Amino acid sequence: MSAPSLDANHHDRIADLGRRVLASGEITREEVLWLLDLDSNADIFDLLSWANRVREHFKGNKIHLCSIVNAKAGGCSEDCKFCAQSAFYQTEAPRYGFVDPKPVRAASAEAQRNGVTALGLVAAWKGLNEGPMLDEVCERIAELARDGKVRPDAALGLIKSQAVADRLRAAGLACYNHNLETSRRFFPQQCSTHTYDDRLQTIRHLKAAGIRVCSGGILGLGETRADRCDLMFALKEVAPDFVPVNVLNPIPGTPFADNPPLPPLAILQTVACFRLVLPQANILLAGGRAVNLRDLQSLGFMAGASALMVGNYLTTLNQPVEKDLQMLRDLGLEWDGYQGMSEPAAATPALASAA
Ligand code: SF4
Repeated sequence: MSAPSLDANHHDRIADLGRRVLASGEITREEVLWLLDLDSNADIFDLLSWANRVREHFKGNKIHLCSIVNAKAGGCSEDCKFCAQSAFYQTEAPRYGFVDPKPVRAASAEAQRNGVTALGLVAAWKGLNEGPMLDEVCERIAELARDGKVRPDAALGLIKSQAVADRLRAAGLACYNHNLETSRRFFPQQCSTHTYDDRLQTIRHLKAAGIRVCSGGILGLGETRADRCDLMFALKEVAPDFVPVNVLNPIPGTPFADNPPLPPLAILQTVACFRLVLPQANILLAGGRAVNLRDLQSLGFMAGASALMVGNYLTTLNQPVEKDLQMLRDLGLEWDGYQGMSEPAAATPALASAA
């Protein structure tokens, strides 16, 4: 980052864009590219300040908390180059088959103790087809739904048929995480075993089943700022309820192990742009935040984040939940525990076109 900017034009233009998003929720790709290219600390802090206003205007003062439980670890058939769980790479990540109900119950009870709204069952595999494994997954989801301690969510890879999405919804699944990860242009450089269109098709099935969509991406893969911008606008077409912003935590043994870290202020600048492009969504600070943002984690909310993943990630440790909750208290933010299952969402129209 360079010396403080004395450019009053930048200050005014950032304010104009912030006011426009507050009034209409709209901003163009060219405008976001300009915001992503700002390189003075003064300009970036101006941007954060407007993203904070946009968060407050559209999402209020409550932070949504969610956590995950790794329900099937390692040995994944896909080759996502950031992932410790891919069978393509030699990593230290644990490997085990689909878990029995006990650890899921324990994770649910812990989430409830911490006031966490949602618990996501996460599995490292290509995706879900109809068959005995889908039956087992549905049993775990149904148990979480019956138990009523947390909102049952999941991230179980690609969904190839509408019947599978409908079964998950019928079991009580509320929300499904399926990230676009990056731009359509960069995607083949981070994964060759499935396509961007496979991911969009999964999201169409989820929407048609009335399952809420959580879809975001991961920064620091080697993508350009234009790729980040394109991811934001691809997500705008998807219109997810939740947008996780992950930042690469390089894992030894994976192809991206030696990627250089992103500067914390550049991460915050990008989170702020996610907020401006997707003002209605819950922008979720997810994997890699502690290691990449370090002491600047709390500024993630000033950058517009309205949700936080707490507890450990799939293969890496997070900071203790109590520390996260103290951070929210210190910022004057609130969070709410699970209030029970809402009525099933109506099925939403499939996406009109691939992003
Ligand atoms: S990100 Fe998911 S699909 Fe890709 S390798 Fe890891 S577990 Fe498999």
